[in-house]
Amino acid sequence: MNVLLHICCAPCSVMSIDVLRKEGHNLTGYWYNPNIHPYTEYKNRLDALIGYAKVVDIKLIVNDFYGLEMFTKNVITDLANRCDFCYEERIRVTAKYAKENGYEGFSTTLLISPYQKHDRLKQVCEKIALEEKIPFVYTDLRSYFREGQRRARELPLYMQKYCGCIFSEEERYLKKTRITIN
Ligand code: SF4
Repeated sequence: MNVLLHICCAPCSVMSIDVLRKEGHNLTGYWYNPNIHPYTEYKNRLDALIGYAKVVDIKLIVNDFYGLEMFTKNVITDLANRCDFCYEERIRVTAKYAKENGYEGFSTTLLISPYQKHDRLKQVCEKIALEEKIPFVYTDLRSYFREGQRRARELPLYMQKYCGCIFSEEERYLKKTRITIN
């Protein structure tokens, strides 16, 4: 099947591409990640993927939208559920592009990460597939995550330290830098 594969980052793409190719799919990569902040981090992740796409010989379509303002406006009143908007936005844009450009299905490398809300992500993808009238190609890739990370470090690829949004960066680092004064 000709599949448009949403790619969240180069490390997550390593085993996702391998496994989906082995399943017989002809893949095109699609970058659309307005959830990644700040801009220097966004650029590092995008550049890493552009480089890796050449290594692994995959066509990559780059929807280069740095979405700090759009993203934060949409999630700021309900930060606890921000991942719902994040999945919906990225997958919706991917599915629409796939439909409009003649792909037979879509998928996402987010399915490899044990740190994502896998069941929620799958639900969002299935809902969007019905609404946009294009199949969602589902494989539970989580068992390949460690192997993908190991190979990414070996290459080496740029390895991010937090999920992506500025709020996940805060969750990752604030505890470690907070100073307690008695
Ligand atoms: S934590 Fe990750 S998945 Fe959730 S909103 Fe932030 S970038 Fe998106």
